[in-house]
Amino acid sequence: MSFESLGLAPALLRALVEQGYAQPTPIQAAAIPIVLEGSDLLAAAQTGTGKTAAFALPLLQHIANGPPAGTRRPRALVLTPTRELAAQVHDNLRDYGKHMRITSTTIFGGVSMGPQMQALRRGVDVVIATPGRLIDHMQQRSLDLSGVEVLVLDEADRMLDMGFLPALKRILAALPRQRQTLLFSATFAPPIKALAMQFMHEPREVSVTPANTVATTVTHHVHPVDAAKKRDLLLHVLSQDSRRQTLVFSRTKHGADKLVTYLGVAGLRAAAIHGNKSQNARTRALSDFKTGRVTVLVATDIAARGIDIDQLPIVINFDLPMVAEDYVHRIGRTGRAGADGMAVSLVSHEESGLLRDIRKLLKQDIAISDVPGFEPSHPLRTDAGAPRPVQGGQGQRPQRQGRPQGGRPQGGGYRPHNPAHPHGSSERPAEGNRNRQRRRRPAAKA
Ligand code: AMP
Repeated sequence: MSFESLGLAPALLRALVEQGYAQPTPIQAAAIPIVLEGSDLLAAAQTGTGKTAAFALPLLQHIANGPPAGTRRPRALVLTPTRELAAQVHDNLRDYGKHMRITSTTIFGGVSMGPQMQALRRGVDVVIATPGRLIDHMQQRSLDLSGVEVLVLDEADRMLDMGFLPALKRILAALPRQRQTLLFSATFAPPIKALAMQFMHEPREVSVTPANTVATTVTHHVHPVDAAKKRDLLLHVLSQDSRRQTLVFSRTKHGADKLVTYLGVAGLRAAAIHGNKSQNARTRALSDFKTGRVTVLVATDIAARGIDIDQLPIVINFDLPMVAEDYVHRIGRTGRAGADGMAVSLVSHEESGLLRDIRKLLKQDIAISDVPGFEPSHPLRTDAGAPRPVQGGQGQRPQRQGRPQGGRPQGGGYRPHNPAHPHGSSERPAEGNRNRQRRRRPAAKA
């Protein structure tokens, strides 16, 4: 299968060659012809599958074939849950559309509205927006959505999880009924189906990855450790190869900041990305990480959505996420496009219940192994009564302050320890999530 055979315009094919894309990914091969023929599309695809190009390429082709947008009247609207994802989609649209005369802009909070208003007044073909700020513009009448021909809901499941349903309904009410709607979601959970039934017209469905599975090229490792020793263990894991770009997940913003300070004292170049940071600080942290100025990026779950970093060799969960699906999103950053990836989780006894949830959700083995010198005082529990941290709290005992120990690079890649282990070693593949109740998370701001 080639991009040519999908019916894409020469200007797009040229851009794809420049991007180094040799052939379409499965979601692109399935979705592009459907979108090009004008049908509504309901697509189940996770980050890392090439889903952005799956909607961006046919969208650009459609826009290129029509008249330029009028003032304040965009012709296409892409809605994303987070600012980072909006910026990422915008970058991709620019890359793919570089040989076309198409204008686009992002609309999201955390930055002033003035430049966004000016761009809208000049007229832009494609607006990539987060729902909250888009509604601000609708209220200020700096935007008229009545000319939108194509609507894309990217990571729609996450938008619902973040409490954006009322905002989405308001936006959808302002759009013309006659339009093409493309909905991308990691899963076809019932709320997504309901959204599709309400707002889409006979959508065609494509699903390239079974719901809630992760790349088979990712290996999962759990290191049991006392909460108070987690930071030292993190340093130990990181210091095995300090040149390697590593994404570290923290459950809380405060925890992310504390980790960055701690790693900095230990001589590692680290930055945090979370919702309390200004948009500029977030953009800078991400670009420093991409260019290698910073080797460790500490992120919270919501801020990490939409971060597009190719082929990270390792993702470390400093804390386990409260919701097991977030584990899948987190490690979507490693093992992309067939490359090997490693997901390492530092798990305290208090998080045993969360690990149990993740084991149920995953269809892959998790190797559990102690790291010598960091053996926990309480083993992990895998029974139904396994403890969990309190939602909203740090979930960890207060950690020891002071200078970090150890941690000079020793050369040689980090190798997780042998899974043969008293806590049960290698796990059986879990039975999936058929009967699982999806827990709702509270509305949150990215
Ligand atoms: P996405 O799922 O849209 O976040 O894309 C994940 C990564 O795959 C991005 O870095 C894209 O640049 C890359 N990508 C998308 N399509 C292709 C392709 N056909 N060949 C190679 N890489 C691709």
